[in-house]
Amino acid sequence: MKKLQLNLVLLAMICSTLLSFKCQSSKNSSTTASNEILSSTKSEKNKLNNMDTTKIVKTDEEWKKILTDEEYNVLREAGTERPFTGKYTDVKADGNYYCKACGNLLFTSETKYHSGCGWPAFYDNAGNSAVEMRSDNSYGMQRIEVLCKKCGSHLGHIFEDGPKDKTGLRYCINSISLDFKEDSTKVK
Ligand SMILES: [Zn+2]
Repeated sequence: MKKLQLNLVLLAMICSTLLSFKCQSSKNSSTTASNEILSSTKSEKNKLNNMDTTKIVKTDEEWKKILTDEEYNVLREAGTERPFTGKYTDVKADGNYYCKACGNLLFTSETKYHSGCGWPAFYDNAGNSAVEMRSDNSYGMQRIEVLCKKCGSHLGHIFEDGPKDKTGLRYCINSISLDFKEDSTKVK
């Protein structure tokens, strides 16, 4: 009987060692992937004529004056609009998408695609001055947050399940963070 107990203890020890090793290795690989996204987007060449890098800094009170409660919740408190409720999810028109908070050019319709995820999806941003990334470990998930590079407002998250024939990236963006201007102002 004692021998059986000893065997069980040994088995439990081996299992827990294996499990912790597996956790460690999967954690490492996902961190590496995240770092690759962060560094690749930082080293992107400028694709559009969006070179204004002036930062916009406002207090919470100032943001509250120019944003609705819903916009403030998403843009300044990193909230998320409910899927399939945003006004730009299925928009296919030609034009540009600007930051709702500061007007910075973020995305163009040329890189917008239908992902079926319930939010507007883009496979690329509109150039070096458009967005920046930050690790986001909230809600027990390892994600990469997408922020407006000029005003630091929260836009959404970036994932690696985008179109493989393009960048392979999916910028999953809240409609409420965007301001779409059709064709006439399109930057070529
Ligand atoms: Zn902005």
